[in-house]
Amino acid sequence: MRRQITTHSQIDPFSEALGRIQRQLDNSPLEQVAAGLKDVIAQRRCAVEAGRGDNGQSLVLAAEIDRILDSLPTSFGERFHFDSQLINVIYKTVLPTVTDLPFPLVPRASGDWGLQTVRVFTPGKLLECSVHVFHFPGADDIAHVDLLDYAFLAHEFGHQLIRISPRSFQTDFGAELTQFINEARLRSITDRGQARQRAQEVLTSISRYWQPIDSQHDWAHELAIDVIALWLCGPAYAEAFKDYLERSKIDAHQISDGHPPYAVRVTGLTIASEVMGVSKYVSGIRALSDSWDLPAMKGDRVANYYGLTDKRIIKSVVSCAIRTCQKLGLTQCTDETLSRIREALLTGLKPAPNLDLIIAAWIQFEELGQEKYQEWERQAICALLR
Ligand SMILES: [Zn+2]
Repeated sequence: MRRQITTHSQIDPFSEALGRIQRQLDNSPLEQVAAGLKDVIAQRRCAVEAGRGDNGQSLVLAAEIDRILDSLPTSFGERFHFDSQLINVIYKTVLPTVTDLPFPLVPRASGDWGLQTVRVFTPGKLLECSVHVFHFPGADDIAHVDLLDYAFLAHEFGHQLIRISPRSFQTDFGAELTQFINEARLRSITDRGQARQRAQEVLTSISRYWQPIDSQHDWAHELAIDVIALWLCGPAYAEAFKDYLERSKIDAHQISDGHPPYAVRVTGLTIASEVMGVSKYVSGIRALSDSWDLPAMKGDRVANYYGLTDKRIIKSVVSCAIRTCQKLGLTQCTDETLSRIREALLTGLKPAPNLDLIIAAWIQFEELGQEKYQEWERQAICALLR
């Protein structure tokens, strides 16, 4: 009998997963997720006992549960609650007409800013649904909150906003990109030999990097989302972006998957600021980019770089992104927004936990200087933790 029990626990593929669910999620704000995972395990066990399904399927499910747990927050301290409050209030104030999500948006301490969609299960119904996990740099420690850097949260929200906007950006820009490529192809029809080959290579690269895809892991989406973040946070985003560029060792012209070169992002933000009528907000990053060297490439490669980063494509992304902001009814951060927040700060009001807090942090840093700003930030965070 004893021997049988030992054997059973050794082959139970879920005992480890259940222990992990308990340790990580029980009595946490993600109890609902824990309940869904436990339900799906119970259902799989019943199926195996009834002779439906085999151990192999159970092992696949156990591995999937492991992946889900890896993606979810592992601690729920003060910072988790602060960030959680912030993202949920921002969501409701940015999109007041959107009804509540079945699961909250959750933060997790991480290496860098990011947004991850994690598929989980609805308890009882066993339907799959998504938890949106916002990654915040630093540890789950309230002392790691740096509100001046939080403008990047607006960028991560941009990913979510584009996802819920009914494919408008992807469709709009996709059509403009196709037209651009078709016209360029027609123009190169008379090219011969190497010139023809080079033109073809550039067009293939344009399609590879700029084509907007569902995962949003492409240049078009990332640039559009910078534009949305500028729309939402104005100078607070532009300055956070500049600070990041200054403290990181970047190659402004580096070609890589996912994000366009920083030089392209700065050009996009500059064009966007002009269209939005707020060009002074980006004067800092513009000045910084003026100090950058030209691309360190030679011959055909530099010609390819300029072809791939054609300003007409950047302009098209910017105008499609601004149209998306307008379609979603997002409120633009303008001088009036800054005056409203500045006046509230002068009366001693603590900003609400939404984008106003992030914009207020930028205003206070500019007006108070580093030392007094730190004290203001500490008090603003304390007020929201009570
Ligand atoms: Zn992004």
